[in-house]
Amino acid sequence: MHASLTPFADGGCTCRVRYRMTSRPLFVHCCHCRWCQRETGTAFALNAMIEADRVQLLAGEPEVVDTPSESGKGQRIWRCPACRIAVWSNYAGAGDAVRFVRVGTLDEPDRFPPEVHIFTASKQPWVLLPPATPAVAEYYKASELWPAESLARRAALQAKAAR
Ligand SMILES: [Zn+2]
Ligand SMILES: [Zn+2]
Repeated sequence: MHASLTPFADGGCTCRVRYRMTSRPLFVHCCHCRWCQRETGTAFALNAMIEADRVQLLAGEPEVVDTPSESGKGQRIWRCPACRIAVWSNYAGAGDAVRFVRVGTLDEPDRFPPEVHIFTASKQPWVLLPPATPAVAEYYKASELWPAESLARRAALQAKAAR
């Protein structure tokens, strides 16, 4: 099945980079780990995970910055070459096939609230989490929290990677 190129949500940096997510993301993570706190300079990172082929570049050309990560395997952060805003990342686990789109760079970030809070063991104490959203001290199993549609999309990605 080909991803449709229907606009679902657009975003961009502060100047020239514009991109489009063509469907809803797989899942939205709010990460409270120390690494995300340092990288963002604030209390947490908010990432919408989505297949790379469902992110369409509309303008500009982000460039990759290899950045150390807690796993030791590194993170590839895609940044605008002019204003240096980060628009998405790739992590070693899923590689280039999955982009972690930075929700704050979407035009309507309110549409993508966290679906899980992770690494809450290092959460800033003044951040109060809503009781209805799952929260875990470290990480979790996608099979326990993701909707069936997202799990099916993940299975399709894994099948493609195995080919
Ligand atoms: Zn820019
Ligand atoms: Zn993190």
